[in-house]
Amino acid sequence: MAPEHDQQTGLIVRRRALAGAISVSLVLTVIAMLAVALTAENALFVFSLALLILVAPFITLLYGLGPGLLSAALVALFSAYYFSTPGQLLHYSDEALRLVITLSMLSLILTVMIGALRRAVQAGERKLRHQLTFSQAITGSMGEGLYALDQEGNLTFLNPAAERLLGWRDSDLLGKSVHDIIHCRDADGTRLPTQDCPLLSALHSGTAYRNDDDVFVCSDGALLPVDYTSAPIVTDGRVSGAVLAFGDITERKHAGEALWESEERLRSILDNSPAVIFLKDADGRYVLVNRRFEELFHVTREQAVGRTDLDIFPLEIAEDLRANDLKVLETGAPIAMEEVVPQDDGPHTYISIKFPLFSSKGMPKAVCGISTDITGRKHAEEQRTVLLAEVERALAVRNQFLSIASHELKTPVTLLRGYSQILNRHAQQKNDTVALRPLQVIDRQIERMTRLIDDLLDVSRIESGTIEFQVAPFDLVAALSEVAGEVGVFSPGFVLRLQDQAADLWVLGDRQRIQQVMTNLMTNAIKYASERREADVRVDQNGDQAVVSVTDYGIGIPQDQQAQVFDRYFRGENASANNYGGLGMGLYISRYIISHHHGNISVVSEEGKGSTFTFALPLTDRPTAD
Ligand code: ADP
Repeated sequence: MAPEHDQQTGLIVRRRALAGAISVSLVLTVIAMLAVALTAENALFVFSLALLILVAPFITLLYGLGPGLLSAALVALFSAYYFSTPGQLLHYSDEALRLVITLSMLSLILTVMIGALRRAVQAGERKLRHQLTFSQAITGSMGEGLYALDQEGNLTFLNPAAERLLGWRDSDLLGKSVHDIIHCRDADGTRLPTQDCPLLSALHSGTAYRNDDDVFVCSDGALLPVDYTSAPIVTDGRVSGAVLAFGDITERKHAGEALWESEERLRSILDNSPAVIFLKDADGRYVLVNRRFEELFHVTREQAVGRTDLDIFPLEIAEDLRANDLKVLETGAPIAMEEVVPQDDGPHTYISIKFPLFSSKGMPKAVCGISTDITGRKHAEEQRTVLLAEVERALAVRNQFLSIASHELKTPVTLLRGYSQILNRHAQQKNDTVALRPLQVIDRQIERMTRLIDDLLDVSRIESGTIEFQVAPFDLVAALSEVAGEVGVFSPGFVLRLQDQAADLWVLGDRQRIQQVMTNLMTNAIKYASERREADVRVDQNGDQAVVSVTDYGIGIPQDQQAQVFDRYFRGENASANNYGGLGMGLYISRYIISHHHGNISVVSEEGKGSTFTFALPLTDRPTAD
């Protein structure tokens, strides 16, 4: 790596400088000694002594101050020995003594100097090595890519992350132009001329440069989205290069795009909603409003943001709106309420759902509202209420009329019935066959009218809830055979078969009302009969229920109308079309009576083939003799 390389080179240079300085001083010392030796009396001895004295500085240079000082001491002892021992080459003299002392001092000074110098160089080396390891660890462990350029824009260093991100190897790019290889394209892939490269111009001007959205070219030609910061390397006041740290922003870009897309989606949902949607902060200032809000209250979203309701709505309404917002903020729960807001065409009623948005600490920090205009619905509801009241009034009037009319009709019909019975008896006694026949017809019609009036009265009683029931246990089998007998008597030529039922079946209820139901079903069977003038009446026990059924083989009921057959005033199409008389009240009254007795009534029918009407009632215990 280039900076390491530089640092190693620095170390070597320092070492060489030290060695050079020492060599020069040693050579100078040797020359000085030579000069001293040549002028001395015993030149050879002095020279060898001088050389001996130089041993200590050399040893210091090679092995450090300790061994150097030791060798200096040994050399001094050795010299002293030769100097003080008689018979040695050097004869003792003041001059020789001075020489030895001078050279020893010189050796000592040199040794100490070299020792200190050596220590300083070693400390410097250690520091440099530490820095080197430190910067290697930093650049090597960085997730960001890092490269360095020289002043010409050529690459001098590429860290492992940069190698990994770009796919280039340090050795591929060293000394090559970074712009030509890595930084020569725009985000859309077009080539960027060298003179337009902002990075290079920043390098030349010596200014730091930052770019949040750029691309670098990878070794495989792909473009890597990056952001980077470059800083000039200034040496001795001169820009000698630049360092550039870059990061892969692919994910950030994707996340940014995804965020933009989701915001866009949300915005279009908000803007296309027919409801008014807004967001206010805890102080009631609008943070966001949708298009509907803008349209209705003539304020753009830019104008709305930062404003409060007081700036947009009349005081009283603004205070109401704020009170609702505060309720949401205080309770921290969503609430729904009606709010009235003025618009161009007058006040509009909104149903507003307001809910809080929470801070990361769980505190309500904003209120979001979705308000739907229900003015139209409210008008419709009011109209509906008025109409319903009118309908109810009309129904009440009709029921009252029905009740009065049927009561009014009942009196003369009862009177007519009485007189016709008297006349009938009289004609029978006189055997007046001419009068008997029309009197029988009158009697039947009076009977029919009486039934109609009774039905009308019952319907009006059901409607007004005044129908009464005399409840007591009774035997359904006996009640049924009684009705079958009576109906049979009045229908000559019609075969009404009652299936034998030996056991009695007791139910709790109004015997007369239940017989009214039976009569209605049997008279219908006779009324809606076709050529086959017969019907079957059955009574059975089914579990804890007594079941009565009347089956005829008449006109039947169209499939699609069977569900309405128990509705008030319902008349089957085939019944009306064939002029069968009736007002559609009998089955309606029958269903009411049966339901009142906790039973149920139903029909199975096929048009043209006949019908079976069935009702079931809960059984009760037979009363004891007491
Ligand atoms: P009404 O017979 O007086 O019209 P109901 O309430 O008794 O009134 O009957 C309602 C309608 O049901 C009749 O008009 C007729 O269309 C149909 N309906 C009732 N019983 C029968 C039946 N046994 N066969 C065919 N249609 C029937």
